Amino acid sequence: MTTFLDLNLNKKIQQAISEMGFEEPSPIQVQCIPKVLAGGDVIGQAQTGTGKTAAFGIPLIELAAVGKGVQSLILTPTRELAIQVAGELRKIAKYKKVRALPIYGGQPIQSQIRALQQGVQVVIGTPGRVLDHLRRGTLKLDKLRTIVLDEADEMLDMGFIEDIEAILKEAPDERQTLLFSATMPPEVKRLSVRYMKDPESVTIDRGEMTVPLIEQVYYKVLERTKLESLCRVIDSEEVELGIIFCRTKRGVDELTDALISRGYLADGLHGDLSQAQRDRVMKKFRTSDIEILIATDVAARGIDVENVTHVINYDVPQDPESYVHRIGRTGRAGRAGLALTLVTPPDFKMLKLIERVTKAQIEAREVPTLADVAER
Ligand code: ADP
Ligand code: MG
Repeated sequence: MTTFLDLNLNKKIQQAISEMGFEEPSPIQVQCIPKVLAGGDVIGQAQTGTGKTAAFGIPLIELAAVGKGVQSLILTPTRELAIQVAGELRKIAKYKKVRALPIYGGQPIQSQIRALQQGVQVVIGTPGRVLDHLRRGTLKLDKLRTIVLDEADEMLDMGFIEDIEAILKEAPDERQTLLFSATMPPEVKRLSVRYMKDPESVTIDRGEMTVPLIEQVYYKVLERTKLESLCRVIDSEEVELGIIFCRTKRGVDELTDALISRGYLADGLHGDLSQAQRDRVMKKFRTSDIEILIATDVAARGIDVENVTHVINYDVPQDPESYVHRIGRTGRAGRAGLALTLVTPPDFKMLKLIERVTKAQIEAREVPTLADVAER
């Protein structure tokens, strides 16, 4: 059993990690941290929620030195994830004078330019905005030592391949390239073959795609009474902090209005909202001012909010990978979680496919009756 002590980290980092409540390194961290510290290229593959951020974050902060120039660049698929990764790196760097800055679209570029001019060692950004800064000359990569492609499968899913390649071409040839991903589809492999040097692969495979701590349930519902069924499920489940997934932005808006008008503390998140609106919603959710976040897949990617008790698929996901990503929002870092899926008759084929591919046990349950709900 490897401990953080065995990893020979600087005392300041040890202290920060222990204040974050990390007692032992997760399996992906045990394997990746020494390899990243040694300077080689690393591919890390492990399920959502297994601590991939700290698997690169700890060694990057350990190696970071105060000085001029950006030493590490981390690319993430979404703004929310850029903010979240920056937050985690800042916690790891609490006792080091190393600065981490998130840069992303939707935020005024001038304030980012000013922040970059003040000297940062670690930049975390979405590909589009990073490229924008590179073209303006407001972000320079001449001192870059390490580049990280975080959640690479999601970045490629979202169509960032050209931006990523353009950024990789701007980065110095003598660099370390790290790639982290929950899955390894062929496009991700191709990217690694093209841009990494003799990468070492670390794969944490539990033999199944889903996180075992998550209890998975489905309810047979009818399209006509789906909203009513959802409300009964929420009421009977004591949802403390839940994320509800809808397929479309419009679906998110409609369900958000419907739940708010029924008195739930709810709000919606999707790509058509302004950055300020998105930040406001996420803040309310993190601080439990709202208990239910309604989101599209894209808006919820990579979001890690502690203590999410329930993930509810109001619309069945479009493929098994999306199911795994969605339910990975709960049961984070060893905590129990519940994933509930509403299934209308035409959705059954997809449910069966999800069960087959993920080898998940998804238990059938009846929608609670009004009497059941009233008993609570
Ligand atoms: P991934 O990128 O693999 O989906 P994250 O890096 O977002 O996962 O980590 C998921 C959660 O687990 C975060 O809340 C993170 O702070 C927490 N975490 C990471 N490493 C540890 C650890 N060694 N001990 C306890 N919690 C951890
Ligand atoms: Mg991650």
